[in-house]
Amino acid sequence: MNFGNHGGSCGHSCCLRIQGMSVKIGNQQILKDINLHMHCGELIALIGPNGAGKSTLLKSILGQQEYEGSISFAVPGQRNRKLKIGYVPQSPAFDPGDPVTVADLFACCMSKRPAFMGLSNKMREQVLECLSRVHEEALIDKRVGVLSGGELQRVLLALALEPMPNILILDEPLSGVDVEGMESLMDMLDEIRRTYDLSILMTTHDFAMLPEYADNVVLINHEIVCEGKPLEVLSSPQFREVFHRKGGVR
Ligand code: ADP
Ligand code: MG
Repeated sequence: MNFGNHGGSCGHSCCLRIQGMSVKIGNQQILKDINLHMHCGELIALIGPNGAGKSTLLKSILGQQEYEGSISFAVPGQRNRKLKIGYVPQSPAFDPGDPVTVADLFACCMSKRPAFMGLSNKMREQVLECLSRVHEEALIDKRVGVLSGGELQRVLLALALEPMPNILILDEPLSGVDVEGMESLMDMLDEIRRTYDLSILMTTHDFAMLPEYADNVVLINHEIVCEGKPLEVLSSPQFREVFHRKGGVR
């Protein structure tokens, strides 16, 4: 999809535009009249209580969920090029006893050769290059099931960056990651977005991270309740009402 003449107030810098978007599953209205513009190089955090429709919104953008309304993309300067989206799903589970290594996981996604035949030297080099984007080359021969929460997120992030997307979508990447790991993962996302000029859309419940890392925060509870700069949203009456908090976040 494409914006045609890139119309609207965002001009060339707008790369994702959601207009009047709604999702109904059975009789349940999951999302209602969502309007959201995302600009190139921006990090937007999507927050909201459990069941608010955050994952459903991400799946709609990914084309995995039917919706009404419009979701459109533009790649600046590349009118007829297809936009690439990288996706890190919410809490994928791997069995600790599973023999699959990080190298196998990449080979399954990147190579036509069956993973049980082992990696060619060329593929191993490519996997190492992918892992170098998240500074985790040392994990290449580790079993996926024994990785820590932070390590797994970095490996999945490296996988989502191949091929390099225009938009990176992460569903609760900080859940299951300890506080130190959270900060280093957010630093890494910040580095990646600057190095590769990506736009990042992520959901999170870790509000303390938002002022430092997010450009904009969108609070949803089936519809957009509040959006703006992190501190504006976190100190808003809407935020307090949705999360039943008396004070601000800090
Ligand atoms: P969040 O990510 O904000 O926690 P979700 O988007 O996962 O919320 O879910 C929003 C609501 O939609 C929930 O009530 C959930 O039960 C419902 N839902 C999501 N996917 C489906 C589905 N495939 N079938 C039925 N209900 C669904
Ligand atoms: Mg979710």
